[in-house]
Amino acid sequence: MHRVSLAHPADFNGWRAYVRQCIAQDIAPDEVEWAIEPPADLFASQAKRALPSAAIDLRIPRWLASLIAAALQSDAPDRFTALHRVVADLHVGTNGLDDGSDTQLPYLRALSHQAHVATQDLRNQFLHAITFRTLDAGPVITADSSNVLAGQRHILTQLAAEPWRIRTPGLSIDWDGRTCRIGNGAGEPCHAGPENEYWNGIPAIMLPTDDETIAHAASLDELRAKAADCRRCPLWEPATRTVFGEGSRSARLMFVGEQPGDQEDLAGHPFVGPAGRLFDEILARAGIPRDACYITNAVKHFKFTPRGSRRIHQKPDADEMRACLPWLAAERRLVKPQVLVMLGVTAATSVLGRSVTISRERSRAIPLDDGCTGIVTVHPSFLLRVPDADTRARETQRFEEDLRMAWRLLD
Ligand code: SF4
Repeated sequence: MHRVSLAHPADFNGWRAYVRQCIAQDIAPDEVEWAIEPPADLFASQAKRALPSAAIDLRIPRWLASLIAAALQSDAPDRFTALHRVVADLHVGTNGLDDGSDTQLPYLRALSHQAHVATQDLRNQFLHAITFRTLDAGPVITADSSNVLAGQRHILTQLAAEPWRIRTPGLSIDWDGRTCRIGNGAGEPCHAGPENEYWNGIPAIMLPTDDETIAHAASLDELRAKAADCRRCPLWEPATRTVFGEGSRSARLMFVGEQPGDQEDLAGHPFVGPAGRLFDEILARAGIPRDACYITNAVKHFKFTPRGSRRIHQKPDADEMRACLPWLAAERRLVKPQVLVMLGVTAATSVLGRSVTISRERSRAIPLDDGCTGIVTVHPSFLLRVPDADTRARETQRFEEDLRMAWRLLD
């Protein structure tokens, strides 16, 4: 038996290097014993491993490589051998990948599916804990799969700005908002210091964000977990994170704004910047409890132009609004509000599906196609930009009356 050791159960780089070596040396998959042997000191400077490098011409199609990367993060004990067999067969041309007759492929897909389900579950738990956090030090959640957690840790740090801790049987991670501290499992103290390279190189599983997946999401947690991976338009790239809607999951009143601003992008929550604080004040004056509402945006990433150290807000264009619309449609389907308030022209254009002039549409009940009633009003950021005090006071009063009207319509 040929014994090889991996640094951890999702050690993609180690597995790939040893498989190449085995194929180069004609060692059959059934002759290999895979062992997990973490280094004694995760942060030792000499922790850099010397992995074998075999000079073989081994080409793996991209779709198969991502299937393998996901399948390696499953918990199946035989995954290293099964995946080795697929790659070895591919190398000698005896598998049926091309004509679909490969017998290993269904098993590979099943392992990959298992890892995707565990990823969705981890993200759901994580976002739920972040949203309803009760602990001062941040949420502690327990995930079943160390493998999936290892692959997701960078994404989790982008999902929430707040500190968090996660424990699995084989891995513990503390995030203080700046640094990940990684430990070897439940109950063990987390190590301080830079991330060890043994945990790097694990391809993160991305959740699907196609129209059908969004339209069939069964819960807001699921939807939000998927939105974190959204690449449907270019706005994700320069932004820090997706800022998804928040609030009561059965709210009768939904507010839709334009997009997250600078502070929302950093905090990961909608309506927490200056316009959001003003919105809160006026909402309270109108006698509407914020926790009875659901608050979201038509576009979930912050669009900006860098100017020096500042990020200047840019309006989303029609393509970006269209790309983001399925997320809003799914939020509406799941929350089922009775009244939906469109804050500003971007929100109104997205919801009504046509160009909108605020002055023409404002302050009247508009029947929407899902049976709820829409109201168009200004965005609270408009109130902050009104230069003279009298006009600002008048506009603020008018905005408050629009909110009162929305609340009254619930009855
Ligand atoms: S703005 Fe919307 S569609 Fe574009 S990447 Fe972000 S979430 Fe996806």
